[in-house]
Amino acid sequence: DAHRAPDYLAGLNPEQREAVETLDGPVLVLAGAGTGKTRVLTTRIAHILATGRAFPSQILAVTFTNKAAREMKERIGLLVGGAVEGMPWLGTFHSIGVKLLRRHAELVGLRSDFSILDTDDVVRLIKQILQAEGIDDKRWPAKQFAGMIDGWKNKGLDPAQIPEGDARAFANGKGRELYIAYQNRLKTLNACDFGDLLLHPIRMFRANPDVLAEYHQRFRYILVDEYQDTNTAQYMWLRLLAQRPKGTPEASADRRGAAASLVNLCCVGDDDQSIYGWRGAEVDNILRFEKDFPGAKVIKLERNYRSTAHILGAAGHLIAHNEDRLGKTLFTDRRDPDDDKVVVHAAWDSEEEARAIGEEIEQLQRKAHKLNDMAILVRASFQMREFEDRFVTLGLNYRVIGGPRFYERLEIRDALAYFRLVSQPADDLAFERIVNTPKRGLGDTTIRNLHDYARARDIPMLAAAADIVETDELKPKARKALFDVVTDFRRWQSLLETMPHTELAEQILDESGYTAMWQADKSAEAPGRLENLKELIRSMEAFESMRGFLEHVSLVMDAEQNENLDAVSIMTLHSAKGLEFETVFLPGWEEGLFPHQRSLDEGGRAGLEEERRLAYVGITRAKRRCHIWFVSNRRIHGLWQTTLPSRFLDELPESHVEVAEVEQSYGGYGRGGYGQSRFDKQEPFQNTYSTPGWRRAQANRTDATRDNWGSRSGHAVERIGYGESGPRARTIEGE
Ligand code: ATP
Ligand code: MG
Repeated sequence: DAHRAPDYLAGLNPEQREAVETLDGPVLVLAGAGTGKTRVLTTRIAHILATGRAFPSQILAVTFTNKAAREMKERIGLLVGGAVEGMPWLGTFHSIGVKLLRRHAELVGLRSDFSILDTDDVVRLIKQILQAEGIDDKRWPAKQFAGMIDGWKNKGLDPAQIPEGDARAFANGKGRELYIAYQNRLKTLNACDFGDLLLHPIRMFRANPDVLAEYHQRFRYILVDEYQDTNTAQYMWLRLLAQRPKGTPEASADRRGAAASLVNLCCVGDDDQSIYGWRGAEVDNILRFEKDFPGAKVIKLERNYRSTAHILGAAGHLIAHNEDRLGKTLFTDRRDPDDDKVVVHAAWDSEEEARAIGEEIEQLQRKAHKLNDMAILVRASFQMREFEDRFVTLGLNYRVIGGPRFYERLEIRDALAYFRLVSQPADDLAFERIVNTPKRGLGDTTIRNLHDYARARDIPMLAAAADIVETDELKPKARKALFDVVTDFRRWQSLLETMPHTELAEQILDESGYTAMWQADKSAEAPGRLENLKELIRSMEAFESMRGFLEHVSLVMDAEQNENLDAVSIMTLHSAKGLEFETVFLPGWEEGLFPHQRSLDEGGRAGLEEERRLAYVGITRAKRRCHIWFVSNRRIHGLWQTTLPSRFLDELPESHVEVAEVEQSYGGYGRGGYGQSRFDKQEPFQNTYSTPGWRRAQANRTDATRDNWGSRSGHAVERIGYGESGPRARTIEGE
């Protein structure tokens, strides 16, 4: 039957199908969590390919993470049957930006082998600039300025465009000057930062309409996931690519009417999940869509396919406390009397919280649930350590996603600096990082001489080193040491094209003495560091070249450990966006941590609402089970603090929420400490003993057990183990 819909369309509901099949003109899908927005995008791409409307290389598709991009590619392959060849333009804004820049680097004054600086490099670079300008880094911290530059770049602002007030706010009015100096330094280094990955293409397109026209012709279809979290620069970038000027041949050739001047753009998003405002995301981009892309079709999806009615009910009730939202309907057909309610648990402190969650996970595991289907979503990354420690003890596999990453470890960064310098000799930051690591007797004075020499001639430091060793500017010992460095790098560079890159990498670490340095190190960490270096070399095998590998490293946002192992995921709420798990654990729902004090202090009501959206994102990641935790005591900056349950708990509806039974073994519970906390003057807590069940439980517990809690200043904290069979561990932690 020729009229039968292809398989990939069969399972879609009518609205989803409309979003997939409306291929002409701009489309905005605005819908709540779990309604199939990402699925619509994926199916839309499959549909475009299957109907032969475009080649994979003519589709530009933007995801929020690299991981999401990989998953989308896999799914498309499944839908159209067989692997998708290509889709070279499927990725994050940043990875697509890199690709554009590598092709057209010269148009923005870079060479195509430019390097990408991470935050650390940026701060170090700014420090140098401040030093050169004689600006006191203590009074005007480099880190702060790095944040300012990032903010400007998110808004798409060049130095000439930054607001006067902003420019005045740093180093007695030198903000603009310093921003310019910074951009110049980047150019000299043949490098760019993350913001430039977006800004350079924008500059390039604006200055070269012919290049832009080329891409208008190329990208027949543009698709964007998580549209609510695009920032202004991303929006500008998107508009440039999506809006063909009227009257160009390619515009009038394919479309009619108001949409005639537009590329086919499809964005999907949910204003309730906008959680990157602090990083410059503009949820207003959603509201502007219809205005900026006239004739846009707005499609709403209301059926949630992900979660149980309890989970959806809890999340919906919570987010309704936000005033600033478009408001959406969400419903589900999944209504099983056996479905669990959302469960709220209390624990004494974070160690107990980790222990209890570990036990719950083990119980689920015994009932044949997969670890892959479970996730712990934390508000702040420091919360992860406790879980990592606990899971190592239990022998539970876990992976940290988007957290402190493997590539950020000291020894890995050193090794990467060597590799970067070999493949990109102008990378001065890499040079400075390793020129005296391991120690070669190249002191600060030598480095400074070298630095001045390079600055004066506007050449990279490695090139300066090669020059300077031919002169007698340095003391013989330093000169010899530097000569060796230069010779080494020349040799390694010459091997770059001929030797397999993993072998070369190993050779570099050996010949430089870097491996030997850690072998000689007697500290407890040294063996681990050596193992990490080995792992680094292993991880390079997946890449064709050193450069490909380095590019990957600079783009990796989410570290996947043991990708194939059944493992619990640990990540921040921010990196959980778009994901789903059977069981979700949400620890740390306490005032000050969640909502986070900083958001409250800096963001006021808007800050609180963004925190609430984060809570909404957290709950809606769960398909079947959602467990929320709060603790009575948390150690913050080495000090025990009594905490209050998060106000978000008050905002959950009792009908969808139950309080975990307090087990006998919880006997060690201490005084919760109302009236001791710095939050106790806040409004929401005046009616502490009124309704919700979990709060009554908390109150009972704190009354019954206060004797066990000496005093906060006394530090006599008693912890008793949690478990089905009663107390199994009892520790007194004293001074
Ligand atoms: P989020 O806002 O969290 O990103 P989303 O709107 O992108 O969510 P998806 O992740 O695309 O939602 O879909 C949620 C879940 O529902 C997925 O498991 C998806 O496979 C499933 N789903 C979506 N549409 C359908 C459908 N028509 N039939 C069955 N399952 C569906
Ligand atoms: Mg999604």
